Amino acid sequence: MKYIVLLGDGMADYPLPELGGKTPLEFADTPNMDRMAAGGTVGLIDTIPAGFTPGSDVANLSVLGYDPKQYHTGRAPLEAASMGVDLAPDDVAFRCNLVTFGSVGSETVMEDFTSGHITSEEASLIIASLNEKLASLVINFHPGVGYRHLMVYKGGPVSLKTTPPHDIVGKPIAGWLPKGKGSEKINSLMERSGDILKDHPVNLARASKGKKTADSIWLWGEGRAPMLEPMTARYQIKGGMISAVDLLKGIGVYAGLETLHVKGATGYTDTNYRGKAKKALEYLIDGDFVFLHVEAPDEMGHEGDMKGKIKAIEDFDKEVVGTILSGIDPLGDFRIIVLSDHPTPISLKTHVSDPSPFAVLSSIDGENITNGVSYSEIAAKNAGIMVSPGHLLMNYFMGDWGKFVEEKR
Ligand SMILES: [Zn+2]
Repeated sequence: MKYIVLLGDGMADYPLPELGGKTPLEFADTPNMDRMAAGGTVGLIDTIPAGFTPGSDVANLSVLGYDPKQYHTGRAPLEAASMGVDLAPDDVAFRCNLVTFGSVGSETVMEDFTSGHITSEEASLIIASLNEKLASLVINFHPGVGYRHLMVYKGGPVSLKTTPPHDIVGKPIAGWLPKGKGSEKINSLMERSGDILKDHPVNLARASKGKKTADSIWLWGEGRAPMLEPMTARYQIKGGMISAVDLLKGIGVYAGLETLHVKGATGYTDTNYRGKAKKALEYLIDGDFVFLHVEAPDEMGHEGDMKGKIKAIEDFDKEVVGTILSGIDPLGDFRIIVLSDHPTPISLKTHVSDPSPFAVLSSIDGENITNGVSYSEIAAKNAGIMVSPGHLLMNYFMGDWGKFVEEKR
């Protein structure tokens, strides 16, 4: 049996007046996902437990069958895994953004959580300076991609309240600095980074070209390494992860999935959709499981770009879902699930906790309810199946899907 997860990040949405009250998924031309819905089993999956922030980290742990309440320790340790940074049991990983501050009146505000999309080369020089001047026996900085880096703090605090910098753009930082037991040290590191970065050669060069400067580090998303039982062991399978995004690759590492590289995978609307699908089919010749993640619809949601989101959904349907459906038969029996991890509504430009639609198509007789008319939020709701908590879905998908179908029929 071949198991395939096709995940369009943030695909789900709310109805839009500009689309005559339809959602982007309903409005988009998606013959392949609709075919899966009509011939398979449709429902809603509740990926965000109450009290959790609707992040892709939480949502995708649920999708892969891990209860976030038990397994979610933070975003940074997942990214550490994809960066190849090993965490000891007492290490706490922090996401370390390079950010640009501005000022409104006398207040310092978060102007840009990307430092004007600083390059990896520039950032690596800054991280080297931070290691020289701020690191210690217990604190180290690790360079990542662009503005996204990592700090590892041995024995560091884990019960802090920290805030993602992308959630406070334009707001005064004063109300959003780390709070809680052990936060003084974290605040002090952020403050001292400002002194080091003020006259840093990289910033002087950027300022002279009119580019935004990296004024400070911003620490968030902290946590210890999660203790996940790899799904490859849980289900006795060989599996792979296809994604351009570090977070997903990191979850894949913990889940025991091989990171499969695809040329031209960008995490944006110009990604190599078809290349990802072809890679999945190729891997499944002797692999059992592939998780194929596409970030583009989420990015369009964050940008509030309705047409861009519809296009990303249509590209995902045609190039990813269509390519998989037309190439899967020679590989034998299969189950394919298509889903969104959480909605990223155009109207809100951020994630929400509402459940997302899923459609599962099985090649096995009797494993499809055929309760869908198309793949959309409303069709999934009308189909009358809700999997909550959402992490239960994967166990059925990888195990006795026939039983799930029997129970819900
Ligand atoms: Zn997501």
